Amino acid sequence: MNTQSPELAELLAGYRRFRETGWAPERERWAALREGQNPRIMVIACSDSRVDPTQIFDVSPGEIFVVRNVAALVPPFETTPGHHGVSAALEFAVQVLKVREIVVLGHGMCGGCQAALTQSMRGAEPGSGGFVANWIALLDDAREQVAARHGTQGREAERAMEQEGVKVSLANLRTFPCVQSKERSGAITLRGAFFAISDGVLHLLDERSGEFKPA
Ligand SMILES: [Zn+2]
Repeated sequence: MNTQSPELAELLAGYRRFRETGWAPERERWAALREGQNPRIMVIACSDSRVDPTQIFDVSPGEIFVVRNVAALVPPFETTPGHHGVSAALEFAVQVLKVREIVVLGHGMCGGCQAALTQSMRGAEPGSGGFVANWIALLDDAREQVAARHGTQGREAERAMEQEGVKVSLANLRTFPCVQSKERSGAITLRGAFFAISDGVLHLLDERSGEFKPA
């Protein structure tokens, strides 16, 4: 038998707390969820350990369908060979679960966005930074504009990159035909959001002005 790492022990201690204080009082809720899920909201967020959408939005199991990845990115609609994990989750959320709202949640101090800005991983081998470099190349066009306006160092440039990243994901979402038609018919709403880690304030994107304002 494997010896337990301190990390696993930490997880199991948390699991036991959850069984006592989280699961037991909501037994009925879990029983209902056994029949299936019916979330009305999809959230696309960063993998960063500080920005857990279920915590930020204080939701219960079954309420939001979440995809997390480096820098909260959505790739454009592509039919090239490969394993399109985000596209698969999006397709499922939109076509099967029929979510009503898709929220792209960017955040402050995003390492993925910073790497996009500084291009620190460019040219790295897959497994040594190359997968990240290739993934965040989705931000290249936006990065050019941010770098021209703010440079590539400092919080002002980083925050601009983080917020432009949300706009890139929204634009890419709209390249998916199913999203496009459902947004046009009003069946789905797309929303850009930004969580500032430093002060814990959620901002929403006003797509007309292009500005993020405190919610
Ligand atoms: Zn991030």
